[in-house]
Formats: sequence, C-alpha cells, structure tokens
Amino acid sequence: ELILAIESSCDETSVAVVRDGQTILSNIIATQINSHKRFGGVVPEVASRHHVEAILVAAQDALDEAQVTYDDLQAVAVTVGPGLVGALLIGISAAKAISFAHSLPLIPVNHMAGHIYAARLVHELTYPLMALLVSGGHTELVYLRAPGEFEIIGDTRDDAAGEAYDKIGRVLGVPYPAGKTIDAMAHEGKDTFDFPRAMLQEDNLDFSFSGLKSAFINTVHHAEQKQEALLKNDLAASFQASVIDVLVGKTIKALQQYPVKQLVVAGGVAANQGLREQLAAHLAAAGLDQVEVIFPPLRLCGDNGAMIGAAAHVALQKHEPFADLTLNADPSLSFDYAETMLS
Ligand code: ATP
Ligand code: MG
Ligand code: FE
Repeated sequence: ELILAIESSCDETSVAVVRDGQTILSNIIATQINSHKRFGGVVPEVASRHHVEAILVAAQDALDEAQVTYDDLQAVAVTVGPGLVGALLIGISAAKAISFAHSLPLIPVNHMAGHIYAARLVHELTYPLMALLVSGGHTELVYLRAPGEFEIIGDTRDDAAGEAYDKIGRVLGVPYPAGKTIDAMAHEGKDTFDFPRAMLQEDNLDFSFSGLKSAFINTVHHAEQKQEALLKNDLAASFQASVIDVLVGKTIKALQQYPVKQLVVAGGVAANQGLREQLAAHLAAAGLDQVEVIFPPLRLCGDNGAMIGAAAHVALQKHEPFADLTLNADPSLSFDYAETMLS
C-alpha cells in the first residue's frame, strides 16, 4: 500500500510517499535550520510560519517525485506528537485536509515510533527488538515485544543526549544544531578531560546528561577565568567519550536483561560517527556479538516523513483505529505500551 506521510514536529517540514512501510518513493525534507541558527535553538513561532509556507509545496513535491497522485494513495499519516504544538498542528491540518478532500484514512503517528521505524526502511526487523532512541529531546531504551508494542525500559532523568550536544556547542561557539560538528571535532581530539559517566555504575537503565553538561561548562569557565587556552577538540573528544560510554554501557545492561536479536539505534544522535564505530566493538567485548546492530543511514536519522510512513504501516497492519477530523496535537505524547495497557 502507498502512504503519504507528513512530519512537522520541530524544524523540518517533510512529506514522503512510502510503500508497505519499507520502500521510500519520495522523502522531501525542507529544513529550517538556517532560520533558527542565530537564536541558538528552535524558535516555535518561526518554526510554525515556515511549516505553513513549506507544507503544501512539500506534499506536491513528494507526489511528483514518487510519480503518483492522491488517487494512488491508501492513507495519509501525520505526526501528532511529541513536539512543538504549533508546528505539529500545521502538519495535522494539512493531513486532515488531504484526508477529507481525497477520502483517505488518517493515521496518527508518534514521532518517536517514527524514529525507531526508520530502521525498517533499510532492514527487515525481527522481534523482540531493542531500540536505543537518542535524539534532540529523548534518550530512551525501548523494548518492542512485537511490532508497535513499545515499552520504555530506560529514560533520561534530565537532558537528552542531543540536547547536551547542542548546549555544550553554545559554550564552544559551535552553531546550532551542534552534534555533527562536535562529532567531527571529537575525531580530531583526545579524551584528556576526566568528565563524569553519570549513573553508569547504577543498577538501572536510566540516563542523565546534565551533570556532564555542567562539568563541561565549569571546566571551560574556570579556564577562561585563569585565561588558560583549552584545546576545543580535546574538550569535544572528552565530552563525546563520556556520552558514548554511558549510551553503550546502559545499552549493554539492557541487552543482558532483555535478550533480543536486533538493536536499532535511532534519532538524530544515531548519526554520531563515534557511536557507530564503538557500539559493535563494545557489544562484542561484552559477549553480545550475536545481536545485530542496525543504524539507519544518516539521512533517515534526523526528522523525516518516510519514518512516519514506516511507523504508520505498522499501525495499519495492527488495525489501530484511524483518526477523524477532530484529531489534535499532543506535544508530550508518550508511546509506552505497558503504560497504556495499565491505564
Ligand atoms: P525528538 O526527536 O526527541 O523530538 P528532535 O526531532 O529535535 O527531537 P532529531 O531531529 O531526531 O531530534 O535529532 C536532532 C539532534 O541530533 C540534535 O540535538 C543534534 O545536535 C543531534 N545530532 C545530529 N547529528 C549528530 C551527530 N553526528 N552526533 C551527535 N549528535 C548529533
Ligand atoms: Mg530537527
Ligand atoms: Fe526527532
């Protein structure tokens, strides 16, 4: 089946056409990063305005590139949360209009489910499955017993990994979003600063990155006061070494407690080269080399419509209810299957 999928939760306006949740026919991504850079982060009002301008053009481009028309589609899918409420509402309004005008079922999609299902655009998935979800707003270990059954078994207590990258980026004078640049700097530097590995030794699967962020900022400020010059690449390398140690350490713990055949690494921080290089080696050293590690390609790690189409296919297969025209945004939407079952 063909799904038109819309993503507008943050600073990318994206529309894709996806076949059977695994083949990308088109994936148009209009990024607004240049408009937000000078503010050092995403400005919600600016994001909404850009989405309004870009969304219909992106939808038409997605159809054109896929060489299909609205008549060829079986459904329209849209991100309903989590994300910025004003930004989400633009995508939802467009999806409703398309659903109404072309009599297409409307599939509501959780953005984080989308990040995980980006992996299915490049790989067959087998269950149970583990996902390490590392993005701008989330750091979670998610266990999937079956397709679309998400159980959050580890979560961040404070900052998300991507958020920590972006915050220390400001201190280093790296433009937003800083992750990619810090990653490159880290490869030129050495792990010479002894930054903390928060909660690594604790017997749980949770994360914390605000202590690392504070240690980093304090180190830089102390050096400034003493008018010492620090090697920025070494700062970046030391910061990244701490993040990777914690992500890898907690993932190993999770895999030991929840045996799976596959590990999907998802979200913007999954683009990290250091993480890509080190994860498999550490799993092997921990005797977990039978776990197949799936990193989506870089262009599918950041926000995009295709991942929403991939997650929508799962919802369709599970006969989850369609939305109607009262569909609303849910900026803090959770996708914890276990929690939903309890409530
Ligand atoms: P969420 O998905 O949690 O709602 P988001 O959509 O803003 O948040 P993504 O678009 O998935 O997040 O990811 C963006 C984040 O990824 C930014 O914080 C960015 O700095 C980070 N990032 C991108 N590339 C890299 C990299 N190579 N290394 C580390 N971080 C990176
Ligand atoms: Mg983004
Ligand atoms: Fe995202």
